[in-house]
Amino acid sequence: MAKPDASSSSRQEDLLEEDYDLIYGSDSGWVEARTSCDHLASLSADLAHIPTPQTPCNSCQHPNENWLCLSCKEVLCSRFVNKHMLQHYQQTNHSVALSFSDLSVWCFSCDAYLDAQVIQQLRPVHEVAYILKFGEAPPLRTI
Ligand SMILES: [Zn+2]
Ligand SMILES: [Zn+2]
Ligand SMILES: [Zn+2]
Repeated sequence: MAKPDASSSSRQEDLLEEDYDLIYGSDSGWVEARTSCDHLASLSADLAHIPTPQTPCNSCQHPNENWLCLSCKEVLCSRFVNKHMLQHYQQTNHSVALSFSDLSVWCFSCDAYLDAQVIQQLRPVHEVAYILKFGEAPPLRTI
């Protein structure tokens, strides 16, 4: 007459990773980059020659972690410094910029990162910037 033991409640450990996501969210976490963008028409025709990653902000001379405008090749500081690249976008509508801190490409109009290794128009300038920053070509990525 023994009943099967149905009372065993194995408690899972609390999933702390969910809290981690809530805390760190999209600011520092990896955000999926777009593989297409409608704002590439205004890119500079000569992205083989760009300023070095050590170039200071053209407006305030902030020395590092600046952005390169891929339309006019102006170097300006980030939204975490004096927002000069953001102002540049608002004044000129130049949407696409490359970060000299991590070589990511941001489109202000899409409000998203762009995958520079997938989007054909961005690939060469990403490679040039990578070589300027690290002294070697970027590793090939298998997609
Ligand atoms: Zn875009
Ligand atoms: Zn600045
Ligand atoms: Zn520009």
